[in-house]
Amino acid sequence: MITKNSKTYLLPQAGNFYKANLHCHSTVSDGKLSPEELKKIYKDEGYSVVAFTDHDVLVPHDDLRDEEFLPLHGYELEITEEKALDFRFLKTAHMTLVALDENNLTQICYHREKYFIGNGAKYRGEIKFDKSLPDFERKYTPECVNEVVKTAHEKGFFITYCHPCWSLENYNDYMNYHGFDAMEIYNNASGVGGFGEYNAKIYDDMLRGGEKLFCVATDDNHNVHSIKHLMNDSFGGFVMIKAEALEYGDITSALKRGDFYASQGPQFFDLYLKDGFVYASFSPCVTAYISCANRRTHVVCGEMGELITEAKLPVTEDDVYFRVTITDKRGRHANTRAYFIKDLI
Ligand SMILES: [Zn+2]
Ligand SMILES: [Zn+2]
Repeated sequence: MITKNSKTYLLPQAGNFYKANLHCHSTVSDGKLSPEELKKIYKDEGYSVVAFTDHDVLVPHDDLRDEEFLPLHGYELEITEEKALDFRFLKTAHMTLVALDENNLTQICYHREKYFIGNGAKYRGEIKFDKSLPDFERKYTPECVNEVVKTAHEKGFFITYCHPCWSLENYNDYMNYHGFDAMEIYNNASGVGGFGEYNAKIYDDMLRGGEKLFCVATDDNHNVHSIKHLMNDSFGGFVMIKAEALEYGDITSALKRGDFYASQGPQFFDLYLKDGFVYASFSPCVTAYISCANRRTHVVCGEMGELITEAKLPVTEDDVYFRVTITDKRGRHANTRAYFIKDLI
């Protein structure tokens, strides 16, 4: 039992929640909607933050910024097998990079000719990169993935491991990746596209393997379907970031600290640790449960299927880490990140 009488807030007490989509494609690469159209539909749905992560093109969208909307600078980088096989069988490792500093617009691991997707090559003239470096050749190996992750950190990016199911990656692949800031516990485009992509098991695999990383839910929307279509890939995966203000630095510092949770719909309100228990309050859900590094768990649910809005979940020092999941009646989850006991006591 962890005995500590005062509350340890797992999400900061101060600040506001800002709804964010951290993985998004526009007409700058292979998305159907322009950045302006994306801002409109996301703002209308109550989002304050969108990270524009077009494939291999890091261009700013500062013109979209207003008091209630913050575009983050980012891009997605792919490292794909080059065996002479049908693309459908090729494994690939995708990652999104979000600039922590709004003035950081220099692409890392850049190649002047290769890897553009969709309209990407049209933006070649606008891309900033270190001209003193040779073209970076990507190789589908853990060493290459880890080199990109390391360089991304050195150059000030928040780097997220994306959609392992769609990528055909398995335990033997992702267990060799080190240093990601976060992984996609849910990717909506892949989820509604028939790939599953609710990756709670993979998140625990990585944590149990010794990685200390956060989890995010994202849309990875390309909007190739009508936004009224059932297979809409927008608005199904988001993060709620708790930050002081809707300022670039405040939002990215909160990301780096892990002051956010991932969701497909349900919302956490309060989350704190006190005297050996996690106390959580949230929007109406069917269950709330805690997962740890070991096999222990604790599930709270309402009598006769009644919905619950709070839970008291025990935590012990043996847990190494714990994380909380809530599930609503539509089967949608919200996930906290893993909290490591050592960091809390
Ligand atoms: Zn991808
Ligand atoms: Zn993507």
